[in-house]
Amino acid sequence: TIMITGATGQLGKLIIEQLLEQVPAAQIIAGVRHPDKAMQYKEKGIEVRLADYDRPETLQDACTGVNRLLLISSSHTDDDVRLVQHKRVIDAAKAAGVAHILYTSFAFPQAGNTGTSSVHGLTEQVILDTGMDYTFLRNGLYIDFVGVLGLNEAIRSGVLPTQPGDWQFNAVTRSDQARAIAKVLAGTVHRHRTYELAAPQTWTFANLAQVLTELTGKPVIHAPDASVQHWIYHFLSSIDTQSTSKDLEQLMGQPVTPLKESIAPFLNLEN
Ligand code: NDP
Repeated sequence: TIMITGATGQLGKLIIEQLLEQVPAAQIIAGVRHPDKAMQYKEKGIEVRLADYDRPETLQDACTGVNRLLLISSSHTDDDVRLVQHKRVIDAAKAAGVAHILYTSFAFPQAGNTGTSSVHGLTEQVILDTGMDYTFLRNGLYIDFVGVLGLNEAIRSGVLPTQPGDWQFNAVTRSDQARAIAKVLAGTVHRHRTYELAAPQTWTFANLAQVLTELTGKPVIHAPDASVQHWIYHFLSSIDTQSTSKDLEQLMGQPVTPLKESIAPFLNLEN
């Protein structure tokens, strides 16, 4: 059996959707902290188990009889808490005799990264220290971050203002990542592997403005502007947005979703 924690989250839902196309529902367990949010799984014949990262007593029961466990990283905002939560799941998996643990890490960790990457690096190390079979699924930046860049305002004004700088991005959709992760969960050859679930090429704000132009049929130009202030730039500066990988495409067996398609859901395109 395969258990997925955080199964009612955005990524978890997409993974289970994809996994159902590859293995019978009876082999899937949804680990959740709010079972009332998981009715759709029960209806499909998927077993739902209480697996709350804050309640260690739920975790060992949840892991009983599980062969392969996907730990979806916690959405808690405090990285110290997240690490403790992850450790609880890993300890429970080890104690319950889970053979293979898979973890949604963060893509392209590198020296100097703060916050987001370090909790993932530390969690990977905790998993390595258990000696269990592992797979690290290092998720690239979710494309959702474009949602805070004021794209609809850019469409209205024809100008996409951003902080000046040599920005490049490797951001992909959760759907693509979920497709790859489901293949890994259903497969047998991924033990002791680390995958960077990111795109084989990066894009720039100029590319983004170009795509806005194509999607709307109205010119949108990119305008670096030193007065632009937003927390997102601080975050983007703290991660590696320039590296690329073929892992995601290879695991999916198809190209990553193009930028134009992946940003369309964030736009108000009816006019
Ligand atoms: P969501 O916030 O949609 O889902 C997070 C899931 O974690 C939810 O199912 C939530 O449960 C569950 N969860 C939170 N706390 C606990 C807990 N104490 N015990 C058990 N489950 C818990 O995030 P996504 O699915 O979009 O993303 C998955 C993870 O990816 C995030 O949690 C975060 O670690 C990471 N991430 C990655 C980013 C990237 O760019 N690659 C960006 C942002 C986050 P419930 O459904 O009950 O709320």
